Amino acid sequence: MNQVPLLSVHDLKTYFYLEQNRIAKAVDGVSFTVSPGETVAIVGESGSGKSITALSIMKLIEKPGKIVEGSIHLEEKVISSLSSKQMTKLRGNEIAMVFQEPMTALNPVYTVGNQITEMIRKHRKLDKKQAQIEAINLLKIVGISRAEDVVNDYPHQLSGGMRQRVMIAMAISCNPKLLIADEPTTALDVTIQAQILDLMVEMKERYHMALLLITHDLGIVSEYADRVVVMYGGQVVEEAPTKQLLRTTKHPYTKGLLESLPNLKEDVDRLGTIKGTVPPAYALPNGCRFYDRCPLAMEKCKEANPELYQVNTSHTVRCYLHEKEEIE
Ligand code: SF4
Repeated sequence: MNQVPLLSVHDLKTYFYLEQNRIAKAVDGVSFTVSPGETVAIVGESGSGKSITALSIMKLIEKPGKIVEGSIHLEEKVISSLSSKQMTKLRGNEIAMVFQEPMTALNPVYTVGNQITEMIRKHRKLDKKQAQIEAINLLKIVGISRAEDVVNDYPHQLSGGMRQRVMIAMAISCNPKLLIADEPTTALDVTIQAQILDLMVEMKERYHMALLLITHDLGIVSEYADRVVVMYGGQVVEEAPTKQLLRTTKHPYTKGLLESLPNLKEDVDRLGTIKGTVPPAYALPNGCRFYDRCPLAMEKCKEANPELYQVNTSHTVRCYLHEKEEIE
């Protein structure tokens, strides 16, 4: 997609200032774009910085965290320099977010109808009755049967899948340009996961949104994303269109993630895993951040962190094994 980006994140750094003068570099120089209508997945294990990247875009980073550098643009708007009042207006109107656990995002003491109508009336000039009709309409659009009854239910009366549908209804209520979904199906049963992802894609097409999908699951990525940004240790380590990334995987970390995917044709015992864990963001190594876990590590990898090498016009990788492949 060769369009002007809808979202453009440039050299984003979000740090957390901890006790004993420790600094956790949760997001450390991340750049990527999302084009209108595109689905981009940010993938990585827990602690890779993907969720903090999403929260930074929404300007929902709380103390001791802080965006210390970089810029975030939504079309011509510079999100990174908006006031909190301007940002509140933008959230919901132009960017909406669906979280992993809807119970933490929904208020348990209000009915789902109350919460959707409140969201609608915050951003659109509708009276209470019109907003209630619109809430029921939205619940029907996201596939909730008996929407006239469910609108009067409290979140705890609904299943996890239904709550996530309500969150999606709230997210689309103001027709945002960008929907960010942070591990939207991790807390759900496997059978419901695909339904919720399919619903998000259906809504993306119906409302002409772009989708930024945050996930640890390359299986989901392969099915739903146009492009993939792989994160490790607070940085982008590989980025490419999905098919290209799966066909010509470059980074040993991405290869490890792919090898740990269950393949129905293979014996499950042969599933690979990546040894070790993601380094803590307050104690990142000087060299390649994947060094301790990399089966192909070389002496030089310990010395300095590699740059992002451009292996072709749409594929970048942060690994010394590919520095010679860089296009001139
Ligand atoms: Fe492995 Fe070295 Fe590449 Fe890092 S730079 S991923 S340690 S080969």
